[in-house]
Amino acid sequence: MAGGEVTFSLAYVVLSVCFVFPPSEVQGAGLTVQNLLSAWLGSQDRDFVRYHIRRTTATLLLHALLPLGYYIGMCFAAPEKQLHRLVHLPDGWRLFLMLAVAFPTIAGTLAFYWSRNKWANHPLARTIALFALPPNGWQSVATSINTEFRRIDKFATGAPGARVIVTDTWVMKVTTYHVHIAQQQDIHLTVTDSQQHELSPDSNLPVQFLTISVASVHPYVKAFDIRLNSTEYGELKEKLRAPIRNAANVVIRQSLSDLFLDTFTSLVERNQAYSVPSNQELEPCIGCMQMSANIKLVKTCQEESEGECQQCYCRPMWCLTCMGKWFASRQDQQHPETWLSSQVPCPTCRSKFCILDVCIIR
Ligand SMILES: [Zn+2]
Ligand SMILES: [Zn+2]
Ligand SMILES: [Zn+2]
Repeated sequence: MAGGEVTFSLAYVVLSVCFVFPPSEVQGAGLTVQNLLSAWLGSQDRDFVRYHIRRTTATLLLHALLPLGYYIGMCFAAPEKQLHRLVHLPDGWRLFLMLAVAFPTIAGTLAFYWSRNKWANHPLARTIALFALPPNGWQSVATSINTEFRRIDKFATGAPGARVIVTDTWVMKVTTYHVHIAQQQDIHLTVTDSQQHELSPDSNLPVQFLTISVASVHPYVKAFDIRLNSTEYGELKEKLRAPIRNAANVVIRQSLSDLFLDTFTSLVERNQAYSVPSNQELEPCIGCMQMSANIKLVKTCQEESEGECQQCYCRPMWCLTCMGKWFASRQDQQHPETWLSSQVPCPTCRSKFCILDVCIIR
C-alpha cells in the first residue's frame, strides 16, 4: 500500500470508530449524530419520543454511509488505483463497492418505511403502541412519556450509548439504534450479574456494576438488561414500584448514605415510640412532602440537664427517611465511623440531638 492510502485508511477508521462509539470526551462538542443534526432532531426534553425516533433513524443512515465514504475518499487518497473507473475494478474493490452501496440503500429503504404514516412504523412507535388504550394511538402514549421525561425527579444514569431512564410509569434504555421501553406495572426486575472494577478514574474506591434484567409480562415487549453502578441502586429502588429480585445473590455495595440510612432506621426503630394525642393530625413531611411526618425528637439519651443533647420542642415535621438523610448530611464525610455517635442540630430549632433521641410516632 502506498503512503497516502495507509494514512487515509487509518484516519478514516479512527474517525469512524469515534463516530460510531463516541468516547465520553467528545460527547459534548464532537462529531456525533446528536451534534451534527441537533437542529433537525429537536430537543429531547421537549419531545423525547420524536427526538429518539429521529435520532435512531439518522444514526442508522449515517453509519450505513461510512463504507461508501471510505470508498469515495479512497478515490482521492489513492488516485493511482483508478477506483473511479468502475468498469475496471479489481474483484475485492468491486465487492466492497457493492456492499458500500447496499448498506445505505437498505438503511434508506428502512428509514423511508419507518417515516410513513407519521412515523407509526418506527420500532419505537410500534413498541409504545402496545401500551395505547384504543381508540388512542401511540401518540397519546408518547405524550405521557414526554411529560414524565421532563420531570426532574426521574432516575437517569449511564453513558449516551446505554442510558437508563426510569420515570413514574416507564423503564427505558436508550441505545445507539434502539430505545427499549417497558411499563413499570408489568415488569419483573432481577439482578443477574455484578462486576467489580478495582479503580475508577474519579474515585479510589472499587466500583461495582450491576446488571439487572427487565422482563415484561407483556408478550410483545422484549426483555432487556440495564447496567448501573451499585451506589445508584438505592436511588433506582426508590423510583421503582416493584421490588428487584436478586437471583444471583449478588452482594450489592450500596452507597455510604444508603447504608447509613438502613442502619439509622433499624436503630431508631429500637428507640421508645412517641404517641401523639389521637386528635392531632400529622402533617406531610416538609422534606419530601410525600410521607406524613412521623418523627418527634425527645431527649432520652441522658437526664434532662446532662450531656450535650437538648430538648427540642418542635411539632413533628419530618419523616424517618428525611430525618436520616438530614442526620447523614451533617456528618464528617471522611469519618463514617463517627456518624452513629455524633450529635446533630434539629433542622428547625437547632437544638442538638443524637440517634437515641429520635422517636417514631405511633
Ligand atoms: Zn420526608
Ligand atoms: Zn427542634
Ligand atoms: Zn441525645
